[in-house]
Amino acid sequence: MAYISGEILCRKCMLENMDQADIIRHLDSYVADLPKDVRANEDEYQKRLTLCASCEYLLNAACRLCGCYVQARAAKKNQRCPIAKHPKWTEQIEKSDEIVITR
Ligand code: SF4
Repeated sequence: MAYISGEILCRKCMLENMDQADIIRHLDSYVADLPKDVRANEDEYQKRLTLCASCEYLLNAACRLCGCYVQARAAKKNQRCPIAKHPKWTEQIEKSDEIVITR
């Protein structure tokens, strides 16, 4: 498929001609390169991906509600599922480290 300048393609059409394995490899690399302070912890990330995997809005590794690749969205701790009233997963709440006061 050749891209014609000015022609608007939907994500579904673009993905039709892309190799899914390449997309997943790219997403794995993107997630691995996220800064530690941005990234959700591994348990939370896997929990989110499991919920997305069984979701009716998942299409070719992307969420049909927000348009994000779910791997990229789920990897960020401050992200949430875009379902408005009852999201399937929400922001990762971090417990603060023990506060140590020194004199
Ligand atoms: S982010 Fe939410 S709506 Fe989108 S695929 Fe995942 S669980 Fe479904």
